[in-house]
Amino acid sequence: MIKGLWSKVRLVCGNHSDEEKIIMSPHEGANSAISKALYRSSSGMFYSCPKYYPENRNENEPCCRNHISVKEFEDMIGYIANTVCKYESMGGTFEIVGLTWKSRSGVEYSVINQTDEHIDIKCVNEKALWKK
Ligand SMILES: [Zn+2]
Repeated sequence: MIKGLWSKVRLVCGNHSDEEKIIMSPHEGANSAISKALYRSSSGMFYSCPKYYPENRNENEPCCRNHISVKEFEDMIGYIANTVCKYESMGGTFEIVGLTWKSRSGVEYSVINQTDEHIDIKCVNEKALWKK
């Protein structure tokens, strides 16, 4: 097992160019119409792109709706923990850069960078982006 997996993982918004590397952060969203419509829950916490909020955007920058629920985030941590366990039980080392997968609710993840301090995971929630 990896110690402190939770705190190492950084979510990178997959709705931008690779150079930008925009880190998503947890937000309280109890009254967010979007989170209610998607999750029908009032448990308000979710991870969202800072570009969702006007104060983080330039005048002409489009609003980014990419976000995932805390449940999604937990599932993602669980997936990584399981994968690492599997690797280790086969005698491998903990190296997961390049790993990609799609969650049950359709969020796409890929591990783009891994250091001793951080594991950067790019995520795109197509549903949230309303591309479909
Ligand atoms: Zn974004």
